[in-house]
Amino acid sequence: MKQCFFFLSVLINSPKGLGNKIDVYLQPLIEELKELFSIGLQTYDAFTGEMFTLKAALLWTISDFPAYAILTGWSTSSGKTCPRCVGDTKSCWLKHGRKFCCIGHRRFLHKSDRMCKDKISFDGKMEWGEAPKLLSGMEMLQQLDGVLTEYKKKKRS
Ligand SMILES: [Zn+2]
Repeated sequence: MKQCFFFLSVLINSPKGLGNKIDVYLQPLIEELKELFSIGLQTYDAFTGEMFTLKAALLWTISDFPAYAILTGWSTSSGKTCPRCVGDTKSCWLKHGRKFCCIGHRRFLHKSDRMCKDKISFDGKMEWGEAPKLLSGMEMLQQLDGVLTEYKKKKRS
């Protein structure tokens, strides 16, 4: 997570969101990543003085929620927005902001954490609930499959 290893792949300046048109911008990056993952690239290692096959994979992306929705197909416009809490997302509607706000993340803290008792900084309530269980790899894939199916349905209509 050092800054020298960060790689800004795409920066799109647009007065409006691109929506699904972002695929056009990402297509060259995706093709390159596929090639780097499956075939690799002969690269010089300055430390050993030898050539090696460099392979690459995309591990994480950092984006705001609207971009996250476009990239993953995850709906960020409902009350079940949080990608960590998924179906156990706690949210409230912000009347003046006219959007959902994810709440209830103090349940991830240790019960002795002072923020669990803090009413003033949050919604006027203490929070002691249990954090949603971590999904196994298979459960994540099943969930992703469901999200992709829903995304494809929406895209067709
Ligand atoms: Zn959450």
